[in-house]
Amino acid sequence: MKKRKLMALGLACTMALSLCGTVAFAEEETETEAAETEAELVITEDVQEIIDRGVLRVGVKNAVEGFGYQDTLTGEYSGMEIDIANLIAEELGVEVEFTTVTAATRTELLDSGDIDCVIATFTITDERRESWDFSTPYYTDHVTVLVKDSSEITTLEDLLDKTVGVSSGSTSARSLVEAMIEAEVISGDDYDSETFDPALWTDGVSFRQYDDYPAISTALESDEVDAFCVDKSILAIYKTEGRSYIDAEFAPQEYGVATTKDSGFSAYVDTLINRWLEDGTIDGFIEEYALG
Ligand code: GLU
Repeated sequence: MKKRKLMALGLACTMALSLCGTVAFAEEETETEAAETEAELVITEDVQEIIDRGVLRVGVKNAVEGFGYQDTLTGEYSGMEIDIANLIAEELGVEVEFTTVTAATRTELLDSGDIDCVIATFTITDERRESWDFSTPYYTDHVTVLVKDSSEITTLEDLLDKTVGVSSGSTSARSLVEAMIEAEVISGDDYDSETFDPALWTDGVSFRQYDDYPAISTALESDEVDAFCVDKSILAIYKTEGRSYIDAEFAPQEYGVATTKDSGFSAYVDTLINRWLEDGTIDGFIEEYALG
């Protein structure tokens, strides 16, 4: 916080040249603080491979405004996850190549070696940590539910006996069931976090799984599902006229950069994310894209 204030002060002073003395003092203090905490970047064999290739290949979303969004006309990607990818590539001294991923495809592409990392609203969970490495979280979102106003669904209770559209490979169905149990809308007697399967769940709410979000949005429009459940950041683009969020936000979703388990690149990326959390870079993105 202190550092951020100092940086902001530095910027304001630079613009108002009259306070140059203060600028020098503020910047010097910021650099000293940063140097004290900055961890070293280690170039392991796998990191060197990326450097030698000259290209960092990153899996990103294409329809999550402020995170990973692709302009359909220009093909350009933008958002904080794109900026993070660009910064990592800059640090490595390589170009960046984006591949659009979905919740269903991102891990396959990482496992097959088609991409080096996933920066795609990917929630860190204990279960996922068994298969992939995740950086320290750079953002925390929550899950909520989007409905048509005409449905008159406004609460978790109203979702009783309804069908909810979720993405394959996402945390959404599990998050909703746990929230309904917590709110005592359903008993949860049949819930076992180890064996939970959205396709088989029928206690109080049921799920239909889709490969991507536009398909769920279409299903909501045609009443194939009564509701659309996922992280609020992802839902934003589908909240068109006549649609609202229900009155509940639950299941904090901490987003991390996913990399191959036990790779040198995992440590490299985590060092950078920690640096950017400390020096205000990540907060700057959150402010720039109005994600706060
Ligand atoms: N963030 C959630 C997850 O990782 C929602 C799915 C998504 O990111 O598309 O499961």
